[in-house]
Amino acid sequence: MKFINLCLFIIFITNFSNSSFSNELNIYSHRQPYLLKPFLDAYTKKTGVKLNVVYASKGLAQRLASEGKNTTADLILTVDIGRLYIYKDKNLLAKINSQVLNKNIPKHLRSDDGTWFGLSKRSRVIAVSKSSIKKGEIKRYEDLADPKWRGKVCSRPGSHVYNRALMSSLIATHGFDKALEWARGFVKNLAKRPQGNDRSQIKSIYSGECEIVIINHYYYGKLTYSDKKEHKEWAKSARIIFPNQEKNDRGAHINISGGGVVKHSKRKDEAIKFLEFLVSKEAQKLYGDVNYEYPISSKFETPKKLKALGSFREDKLLIEEIAILSPKAQEIIDTVYW
Ligand code: FE
Repeated sequence: MKFINLCLFIIFITNFSNSSFSNELNIYSHRQPYLLKPFLDAYTKKTGVKLNVVYASKGLAQRLASEGKNTTADLILTVDIGRLYIYKDKNLLAKINSQVLNKNIPKHLRSDDGTWFGLSKRSRVIAVSKSSIKKGEIKRYEDLADPKWRGKVCSRPGSHVYNRALMSSLIATHGFDKALEWARGFVKNLAKRPQGNDRSQIKSIYSGECEIVIINHYYYGKLTYSDKKEHKEWAKSARIIFPNQEKNDRGAHINISGGGVVKHSKRKDEAIKFLEFLVSKEAQKLYGDVNYEYPISSKFETPKKLKALGSFREDKLLIEEIAILSPKAQEIIDTVYW
């Protein structure tokens, strides 16, 4: 009898967490927990809604697909359009029509069918050694393939989503053949085998191993404002360049962090409200404060510390193009052994 009671209790608990009356939301996240926590805390404080997070760096889309209708997930949050697009591609996202989301997110940074939404912006920038590269010597991504820089360039492996996205943007601009030519020149310029993460590229400028590197801009922010003395030193040795800023040029390549509501969520209305919160003035400021990411729209103010890193004009390429061109970008990366 006791056993049956226990079983009933477990069923009740499982159902409760699935119930649409429950004041909870379940998030599948590729974003690291410490980056999400300030947003979750602020939302819970405001609304009383409890947010549960399943965090994984890989495999969440597969998990969601295999759970199908039985999933208890309500939202997905991730970085990089390439990753976000997989959820749309696998038909795992609900189609949402929210005036708040449509109004606060520029058109080129959200899907046209309402499945995914950009929530913050990051730019892939060039960082150079302050002591050996003069101001104005490098202005564009295209410059990185110039034979003049032989043996001076460093980067993490090309197949990382950040580099693959940059490669996609070059294909979108120049076409496949020219982009391939650029990649060949870029790889020839490498000082060493592609390795490490974005942060370690800055360290390699400090150590004198490399003079020119590609990084996401916020890593420079994190190092600049770090509590650790050595991190500050690394940042001080480098200068960041927002590429392709001249008047008739296309602007710096950007990517997004973003999210969407799970197709089989039982709490879609609540999930939409949380996404809407993420494009509120309060949350948009948090993206800057927590991770030095730019607000998704220029209608929101950029926090002071982030502004100090520099302002830039962005490439207005439809961000979805980056994801669509991703297989072609990977083909180039494999061809040139980046
Ligand atoms: Fe990152």
